[in-house]
Amino acid sequence: MCGIVGYVGERQAAGILIEGLEKLEYRGYDSAGIAVFENRRVRVEKAKGRLSNLKEKLKNDGVPTGCVGIGHTRWATHGEPSDVNSHPHSYGRVTLVHNGIIENYLSLKTSLEGMGNRFASETDTEVIAHLIDYYYKDDPADAIVRAVGRMEGSYALGVLFSDHPDRLYAVRKDSPLIVGVGEGENFIASDIPAILSHTRRYYLIDRQELAVLSGKEVRLYDFGGNDITDRKELMTADWDVEAAEKGGYAHFMLKEIYEQPGTLARAILPHFACGAEGILKEELPDTAGIRRLVIVACGSAMNAGLLGKCAIERLARVPVDVCIASEFRYADPILTEGDAVIVISQSGETADSLAALRLAKSKGIPVYAIVNVVGSSIAREADNTIYIWAGPEIAVATTKAFTSQVAVLYTLALRLAIDRKTISSERAEAIMEAMKGLPGKVETMLSEEKIALYQHLASLNRSKHDFFIIGRGQDYAVGCEGAMKIKEVSYLHCEAYAAGELKHGTISLITEGVPCLAIATDRALVEKTISNIKEVKARGAQVLYLCTEGMAKGQDFYDYAIELPETEEMLMPIVAAVPIQTYAYYTAVYRGCDVDKPRNLAKSVTVE
Ligand code: GLU
Repeated sequence: MCGIVGYVGERQAAGILIEGLEKLEYRGYDSAGIAVFENRRVRVEKAKGRLSNLKEKLKNDGVPTGCVGIGHTRWATHGEPSDVNSHPHSYGRVTLVHNGIIENYLSLKTSLEGMGNRFASETDTEVIAHLIDYYYKDDPADAIVRAVGRMEGSYALGVLFSDHPDRLYAVRKDSPLIVGVGEGENFIASDIPAILSHTRRYYLIDRQELAVLSGKEVRLYDFGGNDITDRKELMTADWDVEAAEKGGYAHFMLKEIYEQPGTLARAILPHFACGAEGILKEELPDTAGIRRLVIVACGSAMNAGLLGKCAIERLARVPVDVCIASEFRYADPILTEGDAVIVISQSGETADSLAALRLAKSKGIPVYAIVNVVGSSIAREADNTIYIWAGPEIAVATTKAFTSQVAVLYTLALRLAIDRKTISSERAEAIMEAMKGLPGKVETMLSEEKIALYQHLASLNRSKHDFFIIGRGQDYAVGCEGAMKIKEVSYLHCEAYAAGELKHGTISLITEGVPCLAIATDRALVEKTISNIKEVKARGAQVLYLCTEGMAKGQDFYDYAIELPETEEMLMPIVAAVPIQTYAYYTAVYRGCDVDKPRNLAKSVTVE
């Protein structure tokens, strides 16, 4: 997490840095800070809390003038959010911003203290400034390379040297970093939206590479000091500025919810361009050897994996295990021939998922990635990558990336089923047709009338304390994502339960007025789920029934209902996810929460 930016050129840096940080604030908002060369001296301004606090501070202190600088928005890992722990951190001639965690910072700190260094903050980051300064004689690049050679953990760094006021240095390992190439000006950033209003051209910096930026040029070096600029591909971002802006919506989350008919079409349609036989052929040339799939992911991506499991096992009869990446990586997982690992990550930089990918590869297991951000670490390191093409997702709570991940998993289920002949070609065609119709189905769930319904239902959650979601099979899996959405944006405690499991303990929490969302899109299981709904209703729950069209009519076991347009049963969770997301969104709005920047959270979790 944390967002870093840097600018070197002819324009005033401070405004450009602040604007870049606005685009990166989704990555952390414990503090914000900038450092700018003003009259050849580095001036640091930083403040605890949101970027708005820094802006306020600059109003009082005066905005630094100068054309070279770095900026940071923090998601604290080491040291509480405070002014002094905010980045940039300086020591001697070095000032820097950092995204990542230095795992051996304590031993480095102790040895630096032994040499007389005094530390101002509690962060791991400050150690890096001390270490680079320690190695700095007259060659900044050499000092950085030596210092990072002693560091364990992850980092993306933007570094200023007080005696090089026209230069900006950058280096990374396991935290994202791009170098934006402009006309007479150059940039560094954690993510593309931060530079998009200035340039679309950028380099991806790899491990063991160092970038040296001046206004005139960008040079890239390997750690042996060789200039590798000409060997690197200058990429072009195809995202447009509007895609990274709110465009009239109150929040990014709402905008991204509304984008789903389009993002689903982009995730699905290209795979069907060459008929059933062509599905994912390019990304997965051969699936014959796959006997078991292990889906590894974190958060919502893991919930997408649960839905993928339902579809793949149902259609293709290939066993699927779904693992939490942070558990998988330390569990000494049993992986054998015939296994393939699928890593799912929106950002493609999720630290635990990346580590899981490396672990699987080190055991000789093929790894496929389902990723949104092109060129991200997971996309590059996987054997094969399937992009979801959802465009920039800025809200911390994922919506469109989640549904696109699920859609891609459904195409994978189809592909495996076709290869294994577990479904007929007519059935494959029918599912493909239904998938093509998904954007339209989702669109109907975002009509004005539906939105008014979600708003009304969400307003009932204003002063609730607990919320339960029940469902069976795929409805339980989509419920897990629903519970995540409600918790993360509205701070309403919410648990998803397999409907039949609730009575084995948790039903004791169902009392008068406790809201319970019951999801029933799987016709084969609906009667069973209804029995469970009656169990909670009998104990006073306020039931919201989310079901396929026609299933609510004439029933009396619910208080409110949302009906979903019918499609192939296995695809229903995507149609169901959209109203749940929107309901969670409005619940957060009614509860006065900062929807796009939920408490303690940040997007793109690049730390363990
Ligand atoms: N470890 C650094 C800090 O706590 C950076 C955190 C991050 O990148 O999320 O300040």
